[in-house]
Amino acid sequence: MNNNKSNQDRMFSDLRSDIFQKAESYGLEYLSQVLNRNVFPTQQALAELNQFEGPMPSQSSDANEIIDSLHQFGSPATVTTSGGRYFGFVTGSAVPASLAAKNLSIFWDQVSALQVMSPISSKLETVVENWLIELFGLPPHTAAGFVSGSSMANFCGLAAARYRVLKNQGWDITEKGLFDAPKIRIVTGRHAHSTILKAISLVGLGKNNIEWVDVDDQGRIIPDMIPQLDSKSILILQAGNVNSGSFDNFKVICQTAREQGAWIHIDGAFGLWAQATQKLKHLTDGSEFAHSWAVDGHKTLNTPYDSGVILCEDKEALMSSLHMTGGYIIAGKERDGMFYTPEMSRRSRVIEFWAALKYLGKDGVDEMVQGFHDRSLQFANGLKKIKGFHVLNDVVFNQVLVRCDTDEITDLTVAKIQELRECWVGGSTWQGKKVIRISVCSWATTEADVERSLRSFEKALQLVLHDKD
Ligand SMILES: *Cc1c(COP(=O)(O)O)cnc(C)c1O
Repeated sequence: MNNNKSNQDRMFSDLRSDIFQKAESYGLEYLSQVLNRNVFPTQQALAELNQFEGPMPSQSSDANEIIDSLHQFGSPATVTTSGGRYFGFVTGSAVPASLAAKNLSIFWDQVSALQVMSPISSKLETVVENWLIELFGLPPHTAAGFVSGSSMANFCGLAAARYRVLKNQGWDITEKGLFDAPKIRIVTGRHAHSTILKAISLVGLGKNNIEWVDVDDQGRIIPDMIPQLDSKSILILQAGNVNSGSFDNFKVICQTAREQGAWIHIDGAFGLWAQATQKLKHLTDGSEFAHSWAVDGHKTLNTPYDSGVILCEDKEALMSSLHMTGGYIIAGKERDGMFYTPEMSRRSRVIEFWAALKYLGKDGVDEMVQGFHDRSLQFANGLKKIKGFHVLNDVVFNQVLVRCDTDEITDLTVAKIQELRECWVGGSTWQGKKVIRISVCSWATTEADVERSLRSFEKALQLVLHDKD
C-alpha cells in the first residue's frame, strides 16, 4: 500500500481505529451462527483458502483488509467445534463466560512467567491450583503447571517421574543427564494414548523400553498382568481411553503400585473430570494415589483452546525437572508460574480456566460432565435401534464406538456423515475393526442435537447401502 507514514505511525492510528470493533463484530456474527452453521466447511470454502497463498509480501498491508480477509475467507473454513454437533476426536466447546474472559485477557496480553510480570496471572494460577486439588480430591500439597494441553502435561509428568525415580537411585538427571544413568522401567497399557508414547520418547526413555501390559475388551489395563514394580518403575495409567472412554482400575492398581515404590502417572486428559461429578466419580476411585496427573481444560471443561494442566504431588520433582534460572529472574513472594512449566513466557491461559470454573461452580461442572455422559447414552441407545449399526463399547463416560456390518460400509458411512455436514464424527479402529467414534464434549449439545445426528447417521447408512446396490 501507499504509505508515507512510518509503520509505527500506522500502528499508533490502528490502536485508536475501529479494527478492534470490527474484529469483535465479525466474531459476534460468527458466534451467533455457531449453533446452526455447517459443522464442516463446504468445498467452496476450502477451495477459497487459496486466497491466503502467495509469497511473503514485501509491502505492508492495511489492518482493515487483514481483518476483512480473515472474516471473508477464514471464517467459512473453520470447523464449528464450539457448536452442539461436533463429535470428532475428543474436542470441547467453550463455555461462553470463559470465551469472553479470554477475549478480555487478549487485550491485556499477559505473560505468566513471573509474579512480577503479571500479578493477576499469578493469583489466578494459585486459585485454580487449589480449586483443582479440591475438585479432584488430590493431596493438598499438589502443584499445578498451566500448559497448552495434555500432551505437554504428560511430558511434564514423565519429566518429574524420571527425575524422582533416578533421584531415588542417587542420580541427578538435571546435572548428569541420561548417559550412564541407572535403568528406568516404564510400564503402561497397550492402549496408552499416542501422546504418552511421544512423551516417553521426548524424555529420552525410548519406546522400545516399555513393558507393555495387556488390556481387556474395553481397553483397561488388566491389573493381574502388571509386573512386580519397584522404585525404578514409572507406571502410566489412563482415565478415559480415547476410543472407548474406559478407565483403568485405579482402586485396585494404585495403592499396590505405590507400596511397591513406583511412580504413577495418570493420563486423565478428558476423563479425570469424572472425579468432579457425583454419579461418575466411582470411575476415578483410587486416582488420588498417583503422583502426577495430566488433565485438559479444553476438552471436558470446555475452556477455549489451548489449555491443560500438569498436577504433581511431588512439587520438588516437578520444579527440579522443569527448572530454569538466570541472573535477572526476580522470584516473587507468590507464585511464579514458569517454575511449573517448560516454557518461560507463555500466554496467561489460566484466566479463561478460572472463568470457566468460577462460572460453573462445582454443581455446574458436575451437571455439564454428567450431561456429556447422558447424551452419549442417548446416542448409543439411539444407534442400537437403527438396523445396521452395532455399538461396541460400554458407554461409561462420553465416548461411543459404533460399527456397521463391514469395514467397508463403516468407512463409507463415516465419509457420508461427514459429507452431509449435519454433524461431524471421525473414524478409528477398535480391536482390528473399523469404527465410528463419537465423543460428546460440548456444553451446547442438546438431546435434539443427538436426535438430529442420529437421523444423519441413518440417512448416511441408507445412502451408502443404496449406492452399493
Ligand atoms: C487428547 C488426549 C491427549 C492429548 O491432549 P492434548 O490436550 O490434545 O495435547 C492425551 N491423552 C488423552 C487420553 C487424550 O484424549
